Amino acid sequence: MDMPAVQRRKNAVVAASRDGLERWLRGMERCTVFLGHARFESATEVRVGDTVVSAPRICINVGGRALVPALPGVERVPYLTNTSLLKLEVLPRHLVVVGGSYVGLEFAQMYRRFGSEVTVVEKSSRLLAREDEDVSDAIREILEGEGIAIRTDAECIRFEPRGNDSRPNGS
Ligand SMILES: Cc1cc2nc3c(=O)[nH]c(=O)nc-3n(C[C@H](O)[C@H](O)[C@H](O)COP(=O)(O)OP(=O)(O)OC[C@H]3O[C@@H](n4cnc5c(N)ncnc54)[C@H](O)[C@@H]3O)c2cc1C
Repeated sequence: MDMPAVQRRKNAVVAASRDGLERWLRGMERCTVFLGHARFESATEVRVGDTVVSAPRICINVGGRALVPALPGVERVPYLTNTSLLKLEVLPRHLVVVGGSYVGLEFAQMYRRFGSEVTVVEKSSRLLAREDEDVSDAIREILEGEGIAIRTDAECIRFEPRGNDSRPNGS
């Protein structure tokens, strides 16, 4: 797998979507787009670089970041999140995905198809616990059919470094 080519394609897809959204917003009447890190100056003022914008009501829509759970040993190993995994330029020999729901399974299938060994570790008794049981079973069968190892009922998750074999971002 040519991971730099994968990255180039991903970046092009993201850039097209981002540019399209920005053009659409900039073309909208009474809408001004500022690019930069927003910081509050007061309850009614936000600073972006040298500009201060004020309004009686401000809507904050800054998204979310991955929550890294306090699993035993997690602070002693390098790990990836949904953000850093999208920037990976080297194919991992073996990727362990902790959490068998939508985003984790998307990454598991993607990296398996790229050629990594992949193991999914899920603490509940089935994948995608919000879906009906037959859906969870069917998805498990499809993923196992692609060679992904799946461990459910995994209550004993802990991490420890071994040699130099767990490296984030291929470094
Ligand atoms: C790997 C992955 C796959 C997903 N797949 C799907 C899917 O298939 N279908 C689906 O419906 N959802 C999917 N989601 C979920 C979806 O991406 C999120 O629900 C959605 O992006 C949330 O939109 P948002 O606008 O709230 O936040 P975001 O999309 O995170 O946008 C927040 C924006 O605010 C900006 N920002 C943050 N802080 C500041 C600041 N101080 N000043 C200025 N700007 C700031 C950020 O740079 C970002 O551009 C997926 C998520 C992930 C991580």
